[in-house]
Amino acid sequence: MIQQTLTIIKPECVAKHHIGDILQRIEKADFKILAIRMVRLQSQEAQQFYLIHKDRPFYQELVQYMCSGKVVVMVLEKDNCVEAFRKFIGSTNPKDAAPGTIRKDFGTDIQNNCVHASDSPENAQKEIAFFFSAKEIILNQ
Ligand code: ADP
Ligand code: MG
Repeated sequence: MIQQTLTIIKPECVAKHHIGDILQRIEKADFKILAIRMVRLQSQEAQQFYLIHKDRPFYQELVQYMCSGKVVVMVLEKDNCVEAFRKFIGSTNPKDAAPGTIRKDFGTDIQNNCVHASDSPENAQKEIAFFFSAKEIILNQ
């Protein structure tokens, strides 16, 4: 089933000029980029986006990190996209990520792990709506 997911290239990868490399890998793996934007998140926005993690010990640090520089937010489309993209990026901790995944190749540690990716189709729809209007997504198709 054709599905969409939300991904974010995190600040460290943007700062290290890896945007181009990551986009190339994503497109070569046949994920279609439906919408894309570079943003600097406000603290309140990052807090809201990661609200699901509010009780985890790394929440404040994660929010601070995601606001530390510009990020690139994207909507991707592919068959079984949510699961396929999670597999494509690799495990949360780059040390455990499979060879050839972008977290393995561009991530440094569990926080600086290259990208965010939605973890379910339901959350993907919520996360997409957090950043993009329906009009932006349709216009890019
Ligand atoms: P994923 O991004 O693989 O879905 P989680 O949803 O569990 O992983 O965590 C969200 C983000 O929080 C991770 O991508 C990472 O940046 C950060 N994070 C997760 N676990 C830790 C940890 N133990 N210490 C610091 N940061 C963490
Ligand atoms: Mg997650």
